[in-house]
Amino acid sequence: MNPAEILRRSRLLISFCIAVGLVLAGCAGSKHPKSFKTAADLGLPKLTGRVPTYYSTGASARAEKLQKDIADMAAFFRERLGTRVEVTIDVLNPQDWVRVSPLPYGLPGYYGSNPPVIFMPATPGGLVSQMALARRDAIPPEMLGNYLQANHTSFDTVAENFVDIVGFHELGHILCASYGISAPCRWLDELIASYFAYAFISEQRPELKPIFDLLGRPSYRRPKNTSLADFERLYAGVDDYGWYQGMFEMRIRDVYPRMGIAFLQQLRAAFPSQSPPGVESAPPSSGIVLERLEALAPGFKAWAEGFGHNEEPIGADKHARISRASPNKRMQLTSAAVTRAAGHPARRSAEDGGRGRS
Ligand SMILES: [Zn+2]
Repeated sequence: MNPAEILRRSRLLISFCIAVGLVLAGCAGSKHPKSFKTAADLGLPKLTGRVPTYYSTGASARAEKLQKDIADMAAFFRERLGTRVEVTIDVLNPQDWVRVSPLPYGLPGYYGSNPPVIFMPATPGGLVSQMALARRDAIPPEMLGNYLQANHTSFDTVAENFVDIVGFHELGHILCASYGISAPCRWLDELIASYFAYAFISEQRPELKPIFDLLGRPSYRRPKNTSLADFERLYAGVDDYGWYQGMFEMRIRDVYPRMGIAFLQQLRAAFPSQSPPGVESAPPSSGIVLERLEALAPGFKAWAEGFGHNEEPIGADKHARISRASPNKRMQLTSAAVTRAAGHPARRSAEDGGRGRS
């Protein structure tokens, strides 16, 4: 695949989480190894602790920062929700990134399940920070100006900080599975991961909350794909994934102040990983998903009206087996589903490692 095609596909996949390593494995060309390595395989230095963190040369300070971030968030939800997760982090510069991640540089993500590895960029200027700039015009100018002036900062710095918030989102996916929530559709899965992130920064990282509040919105440009059904069908292949994530984040900013962490508890009751004995475990229809969410936090139906419409159901059949699977298996199944949805060959399938997950 030529460089222009790689860039085109990369842009399609950009979001504030995306990951989906398997997808880009198909358009990585000869630049990426057929068998992905980990930072540990590369012999990179390691920070020990509850969240082992590997890092590229010169990235020790950033590795320490991200290690603390992820460890603090894991500890916070362990205390608040009883979750227990094991995770490692790879903090990589561009040179090491292409040896480990099939994603464009700067797109945080996670892969694997034993334990999951969250990979984060070591340096500024990655694709997520670049795409964060696309949301600038959607922020009320006075709101943005006041923030930049009060904090003596630039929008570029704000965009870079948002990359680290995406790291919290990645841990949110892992916490979601650990906590026992089984989102019956992809869009809700993404929304919940960001909800975990926003809950954490709201309570523990007050300096980051205004950044989420600034950037947690879709760009003005309304993309080709705007329906939730399209998101289910195309996932990271939609035009554009960042717009969808912005829509999810906008909803979270509305729900969290009213519901707080209790919303996560209610989500687990509404969408449990394991159904009670005798209870039908088939995934709920799109209408039922929205009805349940509306009952938990009024406003979901009105929010859903902001998306486009088509006739396909929000929940696809393939989610039936995903939602009924164990959390680890669910990661693997979703990886394979994402690969198929994006139309790329799976260089690594669920059976040979189960890597790559948004
Ligand atoms: Zn995600």
